[in-house]
Amino acid sequence: MAKVFVTQHIGDAAVQRLRDAGHVVIYRDETVPMTPDELQTAVRSVDGLVCLLTDRVDTAVLDAAPQLKMVANVAVGYDNIDLGAATRRGILVSNTPDVLTETTADHAFALLLAIARRIPEADTFMRAGKYERFELFPPLLGLDVYGKTLGIVGMGRIGAAVAWRGALGFGMKILYTANSAKTAVEQELGAQKVSLPELLRQSDFVSINTPLTPETRHLFTLETLRQMKPTACLVNTARGPIVKEDDLLTALREGVIWGAALDVFEAEPKMTAGLAEYRERLVVAPHLGSATGETRRKMAETAVANLIAGLAGQKPPNALNPQVWRETSR
Ligand code: NAP
Repeated sequence: MAKVFVTQHIGDAAVQRLRDAGHVVIYRDETVPMTPDELQTAVRSVDGLVCLLTDRVDTAVLDAAPQLKMVANVAVGYDNIDLGAATRRGILVSNTPDVLTETTADHAFALLLAIARRIPEADTFMRAGKYERFELFPPLLGLDVYGKTLGIVGMGRIGAAVAWRGALGFGMKILYTANSAKTAVEQELGAQKVSLPELLRQSDFVSINTPLTPETRHLFTLETLRQMKPTACLVNTARGPIVKEDDLLTALREGVIWGAALDVFEAEPKMTAGLAEYRERLVVAPHLGSATGETRRKMAETAVANLIAGLAGQKPPNALNPQVWRETSR
């Protein structure tokens, strides 16, 4: 029996599963994240932690939790956790890959179509009673998607799922970047691995699907955006700080790129000043990539299943530092 702290609302079913596994669960059934001080106090005597991406699990939190054996993040991205520090302390960390891949790719594609065809602007225009007559060249002319070139920055699970939609649904040519070549998308979709400048130069739509790391933080600055076509759109469903928002606003205002669709923001939940007021060819969503009821429930279940395995001395299916398990299970 272990003591588990759940930092925020994850649904009763997932919490019950933890209790059914025999754990004592302290469930903070709230949607507002804790302050760093509150989190440090809450983890003092716990063995397991279930957290969301809005909980920063840094060295201060890890140091405040001498009994902590495992952290289960309810997200695939884990830039909120100091994985290196956890590993050095022998603390297992897990995430929730796969269960959210298709849902997030659907959202990326929804945003891509929404920006290309200016759906939010059209909705606002219509509701404001501005539609007076059909015109051959209306004020809200959009961009074609079918047959265009889609650049995937970060051809991982979600990037590949976006690429599949683009290639098979919309006849798009696929270019990509990643650390290593991805033979499945190359063979099945004819995708080509290119350098980032080449991808930016050729793509009509650029979809960001990398994790947030020191290398990808501010990967998209004004300098990067200037390498894109003036007719191209940027879609970010990865993490906000990958794009320097001030620079993106400048790029949109100056027509450096045609448009952008953002699901994530540099200083979430806020948007850079000026961005909220900028309505033309900019689509924004409040971090909804994986936000369907089915997928969010699966994410909570996956996190809890990982924690139950880890606390039972088994290898968590989605361990990010399995070496900790190997060392502790010797
Ligand atoms: P993944 O399978 O690990 O894919 C990430 C890909 O990025 C990998 O292919 C990796 O290449 C590539 N990569 C890493 N650093 C790179 C760099 N500097 N330049 C180019 N490519 C780089 O992860 P995933 O499951 O697809 O998720 C991707 C990210 O999406 C997550 O980390 C998360 O932040 C974000 N996300 C957002 C939402 C949302 O709600 N908006 C939902 C889910 C996920 P290699 O494979 O060659 O190493």
